[in-house]
Amino acid sequence: MRTYGHRIGGQWVKAASGQTFENRNPADTAELLGVFAQGSAPDVEAAVAAARDAFPAWRALPAPKRGEILYRCAEILVRRKEEFARDATREMGKVLAETRGDVQEAIDMTYYMAGEGRRQFGQTTPSELPNKFQMSVRMPVGVAGLIAPWNFPMAIPSWKMMPALILGNTVVIKPAPDTPLSTLNLLEALEEAGLPPGVVNVVTGGGEPGATLAAHAEVPVVSFTGSTQTGRKVSEACASRFKHCHLEMGGKNVILVMEDADLDLAVDGAVWGGFGTTGQRCTAASRVVVHKSVYAKFTQAFVERARALRVGNGLDEKVQMGPLINQAQREKVEGYVKVGRDEGAKLLTGGQPLKTGPHERGYFHEPTVFGDCAATMRVAREEIFGPVVSAVPVGSLEEAIAVGNSVDYGLSASIYTRDVNKAFTAMREMYTGIFYVNAPTIGAETHLPFGGTKNTGNGHREACTQALDVFSEWKSIYIDYSGALQRAQIDD
Ligand code: NAD
Repeated sequence: MRTYGHRIGGQWVKAASGQTFENRNPADTAELLGVFAQGSAPDVEAAVAAARDAFPAWRALPAPKRGEILYRCAEILVRRKEEFARDATREMGKVLAETRGDVQEAIDMTYYMAGEGRRQFGQTTPSELPNKFQMSVRMPVGVAGLIAPWNFPMAIPSWKMMPALILGNTVVIKPAPDTPLSTLNLLEALEEAGLPPGVVNVVTGGGEPGATLAAHAEVPVVSFTGSTQTGRKVSEACASRFKHCHLEMGGKNVILVMEDADLDLAVDGAVWGGFGTTGQRCTAASRVVVHKSVYAKFTQAFVERARALRVGNGLDEKVQMGPLINQAQREKVEGYVKVGRDEGAKLLTGGQPLKTGPHERGYFHEPTVFGDCAATMRVAREEIFGPVVSAVPVGSLEEAIAVGNSVDYGLSASIYTRDVNKAFTAMREMYTGIFYVNAPTIGAETHLPFGGTKNTGNGHREACTQALDVFSEWKSIYIDYSGALQRAQIDD
């Protein structure tokens, strides 16, 4: 068991307050992964100062050279993938197959952004005047303040860090208190790859350092992933300083199952979409909206599969679903099970916490399915972030789309159908940032934009080249080589 400090300016630094917190395995709370520094405002000050001091030299390093460091980092992540995946499973509970995927996402993003070291394309366009040249280039913004959740403990930090770094920004990142280790592992790989001290700084802890970072006068760009409630606070903290503010927040994603769907495929998708990561994905398929003519058949097969899922410690390769992240999250799930029952939703399976035998020392809960839900019920509208899926019967594609769009979130949706007309109609009509055909609501790749509409996002996108827009400013440059004053819009 190790004690970790903040990582500031390439050094381990104790919390200014002297306070620490424990990081325990949510599948077995007897297992202590480490003791971490409890961050507060002075720690954020020190980290921002280190990032500010590192900015001029990092910005001046040619982007392809920054890309080479990222490329080496990706190679290290490949080599250490298994070790980092195990750490991630131990700190947040999802099964090893999924944490391997989490590290793989970080690898994909790091290679992708390494390549952007030789791209970062701007425009060159003809001028309306003779002997005049014009182009646009990206500039870094400065110190980027990054705030991450715990459900993708290495992937999400990488989605924010790598685009920020390739553009020449320096970074202060505040991981979620449940998963500080995976962010420190990512920084270890970057440092091993040759990242200069102070270019990335990690301050661990909870809401206080997060809020300090979001409001800090010397942090002109903030990228946040987490709940809509916290995102609103971050947005408000950024607004008065006109900061770049990128928010990825909650979801209530939907799978539409049409009367002509391949039902076996739809059930596979609903099980993976609903119970993967114990339902704790922003893109989790927490609603299935099913045509009445196949509703009974679909729900019966879905419930059988949900009931058969093996729940346990994610390090056991036979386990299919891990625990919830912490006690508060399990209590939230238990609260929603009660809400669903009180609202008159039909509990088809699950509904109980698992607290005995192999589940005694973890935050486990049964995979749970509510049936016959009305679209207006809270369990069918609000983000639960646990292994609870609400099934809503509908009579037509139009009704399915209306129910799908009726929530306050707009991250991901999918349709199961063999009818190309239905697929294209739903693709056009669903007001979400991500849409799938004959696949569940999860499965995003790093080279397409990622993000959502309504209460899920604020108009920006993560991943792909769109991520570069969050962490850069455009500069438009005009070079007049006519030797005379030429007036745009006035001279012929
Ligand atoms: P959270 O909002 O509780 O915390 C997110 C981060 O914000 C943590 O690091 C936390 O310490 C920090 N924080 C807390 N208070 C803060 C404040 N006042 N100012 C600044 N930072 C503060 O969310 P969580 O429980 O870690 O994650 C779950 C949520 O994240 C879910 O709602 C989920 O949908 C969402 N999420 C969204 C995406 C997406 O891409 N849309 C991805 C993953 C998770």
